[in-house]
Amino acid sequence: MKLGVFGGTFNPIHYGHLRAAEEVREKLNLDKIVFVPSGNPPLKDKGLIDASYRYTMVKVAVSINRFFAVSDIEYIKKGKSYSVNTLKKLHHLYPGTTIYFILGIDAFIDMPNWWHPDELVKLTDFIVISRPPLKFTDISTSPFLGADEKILRKLDSGKIESYKTRLKSGREIIMLRLTPVAISATGVRKLIREGKSIKYLLPEEVESYIIANKLYKVVSGK
Ligand code: ATP
Repeated sequence: MKLGVFGGTFNPIHYGHLRAAEEVREKLNLDKIVFVPSGNPPLKDKGLIDASYRYTMVKVAVSINRFFAVSDIEYIKKGKSYSVNTLKKLHHLYPGTTIYFILGIDAFIDMPNWWHPDELVKLTDFIVISRPPLKFTDISTSPFLGADEKILRKLDSGKIESYKTRLKSGREIIMLRLTPVAISATGVRKLIREGKSIKYLLPEEVESYIIANKLYKVVSGK
């Protein structure tokens, strides 16, 4: 069994996330993708709405795809959740399963700033997906990777679709070019604050939920 773990704030979930997860699953033949919305950090990040709303929106959005699921592992935990602990728990919950932690290029670049990233890179395999406007060559400076820049350039130019290699930790990393979907949650929140339409950026059910619960109207975004 091959499982993809897709973490994020999902504030809110949008078609950038959903399309990426679907393409990853199909291209790499994964059995399931588990979305893991982050919990409530003690000092709430600017613009981050309560985890119960974000969890429900993810649940609604993934319910129509039989290969998708949502996990409450971070959401039910009080205080800050760390990816390293979440991945440890998931490896424990799914013994004998290959678990890939799915990250956009932006998130992979940020990883050295996370809690115990050295442990995380030893714990699990990775899938790093394209995220415009960033490029795969942008991750060549990652301390966890010893990748061939020439191959990263081929990925960026579309000469190749994917690149499977090893992290310095010995774990597998698959870099994957996906259909660019330049949607961000920051952009969605901005449109809502400005009273503009968010139609076709996220599932209709999520849009209705946002409207019904008057989300993102009063909180100040990033
Ligand atoms: P924000 O704008 O609030 O920072 P976001 O849209 O980046 O949010 P996150 O919940 O932070 O969404 O992202 C979760 C994961 O999904 C990250 O690994 C991120 O790189 C990836 N991701 C988000 N949007 C896209 C997209 N449009 N295409 C590909 N990957 C994406």
